[in-house]
Amino acid sequence: MSVTPMMAQYLEIKEAHPGALLFYRMGDFYEMFFDDAVAAAEALDIALTKRGKHDGADIPMCGVPVHAAEGYLLTLIRKGFRVAVCEQMESPAEAKKRGSKSVVKRDVVRLVTPGTLTEDTLLEARRHNFLAAFADVRSEGALAWVDISTGAFSVMSLDMPLLGPELARLAPSELIVTDAKEADLRPVVEDFGISISTLGGAAFDSTAGAERLGTLFGVKTLEAFGTFTRAEVGAMGALVEYLEITQKGKLPLLRPPRQEVQARTVQIDAATRRNLELTSALSGGRSGSLLSVIDRTATAAGARLLERRLASPSRVLETISARSDAVEYSVENPDFTSAVRDALKRVPDMDRALSRLSLDRGGPRDLAALRNGLGQAQALFDAQPDTLPDLLARAFRDLSGHGDLIDRLEHDLVAEPPLLARDGGFIAAGCEPELDEARQLRDEGRSVIAKMQQDYATQSGVQSLKIKHNNVLGYFIEVTTTHADKMMSPPLNETFIHRQTTANQIRFTTVDLSDLETKILNAGSRALEIEKRLYEGLRSLVLDNAALISQTANALAEIDLSVGLATLATAQDWCKPHLDTSRSVDITGGRHPVVEHALSQQGGTPFIANDCELNAEGGAAVWLLTGPNMSGKSTFLRQNALIAILAQMGSFVPAQAAHIGLVSQIFSRVGASDDLARGRSTFMVEMVETAAILNQADDRALVILDEIGRGTATYDGLSIAWATLEHLHDVNKSRALFATHYHEMTALAGKLDGVENATVSVKEWDGEVIFLHEVKRGAADRSYGVQVAQLAGLPPAVITRARVVLDALESGEREGGATQKTLIDDLPLFSATPPPAPTKTKASPALEMLETVHPDELTPREALDLIYKLKDAA
Ligand code: ADP
Repeated sequence: MSVTPMMAQYLEIKEAHPGALLFYRMGDFYEMFFDDAVAAAEALDIALTKRGKHDGADIPMCGVPVHAAEGYLLTLIRKGFRVAVCEQMESPAEAKKRGSKSVVKRDVVRLVTPGTLTEDTLLEARRHNFLAAFADVRSEGALAWVDISTGAFSVMSLDMPLLGPELARLAPSELIVTDAKEADLRPVVEDFGISISTLGGAAFDSTAGAERLGTLFGVKTLEAFGTFTRAEVGAMGALVEYLEITQKGKLPLLRPPRQEVQARTVQIDAATRRNLELTSALSGGRSGSLLSVIDRTATAAGARLLERRLASPSRVLETISARSDAVEYSVENPDFTSAVRDALKRVPDMDRALSRLSLDRGGPRDLAALRNGLGQAQALFDAQPDTLPDLLARAFRDLSGHGDLIDRLEHDLVAEPPLLARDGGFIAAGCEPELDEARQLRDEGRSVIAKMQQDYATQSGVQSLKIKHNNVLGYFIEVTTTHADKMMSPPLNETFIHRQTTANQIRFTTVDLSDLETKILNAGSRALEIEKRLYEGLRSLVLDNAALISQTANALAEIDLSVGLATLATAQDWCKPHLDTSRSVDITGGRHPVVEHALSQQGGTPFIANDCELNAEGGAAVWLLTGPNMSGKSTFLRQNALIAILAQMGSFVPAQAAHIGLVSQIFSRVGASDDLARGRSTFMVEMVETAAILNQADDRALVILDEIGRGTATYDGLSIAWATLEHLHDVNKSRALFATHYHEMTALAGKLDGVENATVSVKEWDGEVIFLHEVKRGAADRSYGVQVAQLAGLPPAVITRARVVLDALESGEREGGATQKTLIDDLPLFSATPPPAPTKTKASPALEMLETVHPDELTPREALDLIYKLKDAA
């Protein structure tokens, strides 16, 4: 079967890139063929056509225009595809020169995967996009991760069981593992919505990895950056290898790896992050999360730093204090804060600009971004106050030192350059004489010719001399034949070279004219070439300074974060928490920032602030919280965990005062949501998460448990909740808030030293409950479940019936000894069929009687009589 040369080329390239859709460049389109075409047409909702035949069958084909390719790429990546972008490496004319049948040379220039995006259009500005690799050398594991759009590169030792929590913290978009581990890890990883990629085991080899990293960073030994374990080196090496494969050798500008130590950050597992809605809400997006209500940063880099801090609060007192001192300074100096914020609003995303430049995917606009950003940094530096807290002083010190680069960029670039170098027009006039001349020729070709015509007319004395243009001769000088002799004899014939004689005219050229002609013809492309050359010069100048530029970009992000948190603290009236090594969680007037925000948006009821006082010096400290549903138990539980997290990330907190003894781990089991996708019932999920807490929580942990045991039969649930609380108290010795609707548990407060009862108060009025949302010491008297159900709009018949059942159960309990069975047997008969609709049939005589009663018109005596009558009728 004969295959066309183009198809042969396609198949060869396709075979070299299994597992990726091949975007095969043909002129102004990227074309896809065969199965790729079928898959892409469906995913992109574009037309599937055909082109030629292969093995006797039609070849399915679809295509996307190159100029709109980014949008399509994004859709494909989001849908889990990876894409190999195959470009034409020469023009059709060049291919022809090699032989009339030659196919244009093509090659894959880049493999686009979720973790290797760099284009602004494909990325969320305010979020990181991490690519991670997990290595497992014997029993030792490590996770390395990089954001190639900013160059941030980190690594940490990590045992396999802790991979889940770390993935939850970092939320990378892609994880690289060995072929051998793929099957084991795929379910875990995909659960987090992370796409998984594999490399052979050799890519994770630590010796090869050390070499690869050494070359990349130009160091002999990695010790320059710290002491790394073999697994750490293996994971970092695999990352670099993967980047080489996907970027086809063009490596992004990576910063030296930062070694993170797990012991330095608060451990928060995946379920807890989800439940507390730290960086994304349960509904999925950023909106509704804690992050969304605390973000007052002015720059994208600041927003990314905020997300990172919130995801990994510190446990190191000095680090936390340095950060909160910076926020405090900014709160106390509002003029400083607002001036800094104004300047920051003009700072573009320098990290991403730098990264695009290093991957050669950038353009003049990225150079301008650096010019503007560094310029703002310098302006901030020049205006800095005399005394600043340490963290800010250090950051401000890093803002300066780019004078030469800024001058050069300012001198060379126009104010608002185009996106791409190939568009030209970004180098300022007066910066390069050769370029100015080329541009002048290009733009003013006609006037240059007109001037030359005038010069020649003067020189020859032929006033009617003209310079003209046609397609055959190009530019030429024309005089009437009457001047032929003069023009063709000395001295004029030394300048004017005869080209053609017609009936009435005689035509000449000159060396200067043909030079000028070539120049005009080439001026456009020459101008562009000079610009490209100058662009390359600027690009390499920038890259030579990359390390310092990213230091400045980091400093700006750090400053942005401090003033952002200060702005938030001032606007929302937050306080500076006091942190120490005690074991208190002592919060006065605490609020839940997200619920408070939601309430203020609705413009209705204000948020009720509440205190929380856990003092665990003597061992465990547990608040057992009872109260009806909807009274605010979950809100209270979560708000205290959020306050601890905010405090340890270095922020102010939503409270009047807060004293927090460093927390090492935060666990939360809040609410119950079915995890049907994983085939686990609510109860199973709840128990798995509770087990994880009881197995891991230590005496520095803060544990939040909400309604443990709700998912099973009453007595089972109560027993589990009871035993869980005892274990937390006796064995884990954690600080904990425990909400339950099992009132029986309030008895534990008398038995266990560290347990205290608290309740969210409600008022009962006219048979209905009113939620006060006030947390106070003591136990709730009852659960008001039926009233809450009534508020929720359960049909009145069901509510009435529920009251009867409840009364029977409660009196049974009071009389003691009644088993559930006998209680149920004693209940008045309950028809399994729904009660008939009240409008059609007669309701109970008592209800009918009630219809006619006007309570306001009754005397007390009549009312009492009525109750007797009603009782008889019922
Ligand atoms: P529970 O866990 O007791 O069922 P939630 O904590 O879910 O109750 O709170 C229910 C609703 O009550 C919240 O959505 C919020 O609107 C309101 N709420 C909770 N706490 C407060 C508070 N302290 N101040 C004002 N409103 C609150």
